Amino acid sequence: ATPTAVMVATGVGANNGVLIKGGDALEKAQKVKYVIFDKTGTLTQGKATVTTAKVFSSMERGDFLTLVASAEASSEHPLAKAILEYARHFHYFDDPSTTKDAHINGLESKSFGWLLDVSDFSALPGQGVQCFIDGKKVLVGNRKLMSENRVAIPDQVENFVVQLEESAKTGILVSYDNDLIGVLGVSDPLKREAAVVIEGLIKMGVHPVMVTGDNWRTAKAVAKEVGITDVRAEVMPAGKADVIRSFQKDGSVVAMVGDGINDSPALAAADVGMAIGAGTDIAIEAADYVLMRSNLEDVITAIDLSRKTFSRIR
Ligand code: ADP
Ligand code: MG
Repeated sequence: ATPTAVMVATGVGANNGVLIKGGDALEKAQKVKYVIFDKTGTLTQGKATVTTAKVFSSMERGDFLTLVASAEASSEHPLAKAILEYARHFHYFDDPSTTKDAHINGLESKSFGWLLDVSDFSALPGQGVQCFIDGKKVLVGNRKLMSENRVAIPDQVENFVVQLEESAKTGILVSYDNDLIGVLGVSDPLKREAAVVIEGLIKMGVHPVMVTGDNWRTAKAVAKEVGITDVRAEVMPAGKADVIRSFQKDGSVVAMVGDGINDSPALAAADVGMAIGAGTDIAIEAADYVLMRSNLEDVITAIDLSRKTFSRIR
């Protein structure tokens, strides 16, 4: 392609909200064989909503939700935000006087006056959160978090979580003083265009893959919905870049599409890193392409643009 063709293509991209960071990036996209998609916030809307909360102890529902929300209050994770929102609504309807400010001021801190004091909070990437409330250890997260802390998961709890996961939801386990006391079910719907884009990529001869830190059962259910057969689940945050490298081993050109802080090492490792525009600054920094509209159709736009610039015009 001539420098003019590259300039034109870059301009066409920009007009469509596809920012291409240089001619190299534009050239590589035509050769992409695998596109690795992050699940949360990339294939899904990244707007998690709590759909179920089940208590498996004698604790009252309101107290259970207060406890979980308090533990998650310092976390930046989308799951934490969903849990706080759910608990806040519960308390509002339960007793509007306690959260009246919440209703007026949205998510300002005084709307969370009902939260409990928390000490020794820590976020454990890929697992959940840990803290102490009233001197008792509270854990909120996945099975790995529970098993590492030697909290037993009773059969009826496990069965409930499996049910959630089979319907594409993420099950969040809660323990108090080393007892499993309840489970939350969280749903994060697919982006509307996701399935069509996957179908389109396959037609173009590109192989789509999904990678996620979420559990295998939920991952497979989501992948099935969107039409992806190749899945890598329960990948720790640092592991996404290793997944990219495993696909590059035979010399294949690999693209990664992601939005989160967790995704930036993988975006950097990929031959073609594509960051979702609504994602974090650090992901945008690490990428070769920025999809400003946060629309997955632009993955196809980017590959198309590269193919048209480099394969046809010579
Ligand atoms: P993803 O790759 O899908 O963005 P993460 O690596 O951020 O996922 O998290 C993986 C899993 O760890 C989540 O599905 C959840 O089970 C658990 N987890 C992480 N952070 C939290 C949190 N703040 N509260 C509850 N669970 C969490
Ligand atoms: Mg993500």
